[in-house]
Amino acid sequence: MATPPQNKQININKLIETPQTGVIRLDRNFAIIAIDDVIEALLLLFLPVKPIKQLLGESHLCGKQWLDIIGPLQTSPQCSPWLQADQTQSDQTSQLNLINNQIDMTLSLRYSPVFDHHSNLLEMLIFIVVAKSKQQIEKDLKNEQAFYRAVVDDMPALIYRYTTEGIVTLANAAVCSYFGAKADDIIGMSIYDVMDAENIDRAKNHLASITAENPIMAHEHSGTDSVGNRKWFQWTDRLILSDDGQPLGYQGIGLDLTERKMYEEELLELASTDMLTGLLNRRQCILLGKQALLSCRQENHSFSLLIIDLDLFKNVNDSLGHLAGDHVLQKFAALCTNILDESNIIGRYGGEEFIIILPKTNLKQALVIGENLREKVEAMEISLDKHQFNITISVGIAASNDSLPNSLNSLLASADEALYKAKATGRNKVAY
Ligand code: GH3
Ligand code: MG
Ligand code: MG
Repeated sequence: MATPPQNKQININKLIETPQTGVIRLDRNFAIIAIDDVIEALLLLFLPVKPIKQLLGESHLCGKQWLDIIGPLQTSPQCSPWLQADQTQSDQTSQLNLINNQIDMTLSLRYSPVFDHHSNLLEMLIFIVVAKSKQQIEKDLKNEQAFYRAVVDDMPALIYRYTTEGIVTLANAAVCSYFGAKADDIIGMSIYDVMDAENIDRAKNHLASITAENPIMAHEHSGTDSVGNRKWFQWTDRLILSDDGQPLGYQGIGLDLTERKMYEEELLELASTDMLTGLLNRRQCILLGKQALLSCRQENHSFSLLIIDLDLFKNVNDSLGHLAGDHVLQKFAALCTNILDESNIIGRYGGEEFIIILPKTNLKQALVIGENLREKVEAMEISLDKHQFNITISVGIAASNDSLPNSLNSLLASADEALYKAKATGRNKVAY
């Protein structure tokens, strides 16, 4: 215990970083008999007048009066009165604040008197606990903040915070890369200046619906990033409240759903499209046809549909091969798409049969459309390798009217009947 502190080379920084404990022994006159090296080193740091080392190989503080040492160090509460006045009492505690321009720390002292069997004071033991310095607490806090900052920055989600007035106070790396800007440029801006114009009204409505009672709001929406890519996000906006329940601001976390959305769209397209022609497949065509029929009926609009069958198509396959047949199907599909407007639903019904659904179109108009299509197909020149040829179609039409039961299935059946009629009367015909 009495080894000189300088020989021990006590690392003061280490001492400050890690909470320490130590013991000092005082004799009955409160002169130091023994003192832990680290505690001595710490006290020496703060003493206004450094004591001269007593003897080589001895402690700086051994033999010194404890009250002389802690007197200038401002104890709180002052321990000297009770230390001197009442030698029979039991343990007492006190605190010692050690402050210089680098360190600010608190020592908790427990004075524990030792008596002989006549109740005379033999020794006084002082147990010391050194609390973390303020500097260390601040350093730890900064380290902790740096750690959380790194976590927030490394998250692939967009994370940002803003005040109740909408001023951005935090933007993580994902936010910066989305907007193609530095955090310093984004922080301090209004969120309404940062976000896509198309989302401002929606964002205002969302924020208005967040309250202390319902502090979380989840929603999905898309936006365009700094390089023009469409992105989908699952957003969670949260109101941040202080300890006493006052709104401090908001936090928004956006999970990038773009890949999932694209995958969903791809699946939907695969499930609804005919691969060869790019038209709707039969299932999707019927689904959309039913919806269109329903809304036409509700709004009192007429409704027609066409079933089209390529004439003697088997001959194309047989004479030019299946690939040539595929090419013809694609040419026909492209022609339909070109001449019909977008409100019409065009699909491949199966094989070389197609369906065209014409909402808000009566029988007379449908006949014109069917006849126009028949003529255009007949006039369409198809060149394949060295072959040039033409094809024809037969068209069966059905239109909803008050005397017919208006289900899509019944209309399909009656269009199919009309198609059979067109075939039976020589093909390259429109029938109803
Ligand atoms: P019709 O005028 O009476 O309709 O005579 P058709 O030859 O067109 O009718 P049929 O039903 O005898 O033959 C239809 C042919 O369509 C048979 C089938 O191989 C062919 N087909 C169906 N789907 C495809 C396809 O995806 N590609 C090709 N190349 N041919 C197809
Ligand atoms: Mg057929
Ligand atoms: Mg056919």
